[in-house]
Amino acid sequence: MTGSEIIDKARSEDRNVLTEIEAKELLMEAGISVVDTKLATSKEEVISISQQLGFPVVLKIASPDVVHKSDAGGVKLDLKTAKQAGKAYDDILKAIKKQYPEAKIQGVSVQKMARPGVEVIIGMSKDAQFGPVLMFGLGGILVEILKDISFRIVPLTKRDAKEMIKEIKGYPLLEGYRGQEPVDVNNLEELVLKVSNFVEQTPEVDELDLNPIFAYSDGAVAVDARVILEES
Ligand code: ADP
Ligand code: MG
Repeated sequence: MTGSEIIDKARSEDRNVLTEIEAKELLMEAGISVVDTKLATSKEEVISISQQLGFPVVLKIASPDVVHKSDAGGVKLDLKTAKQAGKAYDDILKAIKKQYPEAKIQGVSVQKMARPGVEVIIGMSKDAQFGPVLMFGLGGILVEILKDISFRIVPLTKRDAKEMIKEIKGYPLLEGYRGQEPVDVNNLEELVLKVSNFVEQTPEVDELDLNPIFAYSDGAVAVDARVILEES
């Protein structure tokens, strides 16, 4: 599906929340690096897609009604065999049906377990005065507890992208810390600019969250994506 088809489909179903798979497809079309993610609607499909992608894999609930997937028991990481993937499928559906009996479930997303990197996040929200604003930060507790984040108004210049990454307090973590490989910061700047372009060209998007992105010495990849559309 093209980006506008994905948005139209959500609208025709009268919803503003895109699933992780839809959000990633939309972002991939904009040249943003995301983990290749496929929808499975049965245990057999989970297993065949897992074998196709190669183990280890990650399974996640695919439902527009479940926004915080891991809180609800909807994420299973590092599944190494067909048996583990099959069991994870059952466990996810069971947990979600218990907690969200009303949730519309599209199925389960299957993706490769990405190798560990430095977790960063890029977000967008719309400010009443400034319009779309991009946020950058380090993932995990650094953003949740320390609120170590920076903001710039869309559209960003190259310089904005460079500065917003450099000005977070945790920047030294990106330069390599205690033997960790340094992150390719130029690539992160390009990623920030691609997100800015995407936001500019897709006014239907009201909120965006790439959380987390795994940053490496040779690139970066978003393993989760959330998109909320404007009220139609
Ligand atoms: P949610 O934010 O809805 O709870 P996520 O998709 O972000 O769910 O998954 C929760 C956590 O699992 C992430 O923060 C990340 O640490 C890890 N994770 C998710 N997808 C992958 C993946 N493909 N590879 C490795 N780790 C992942
Ligand atoms: Mg997430």
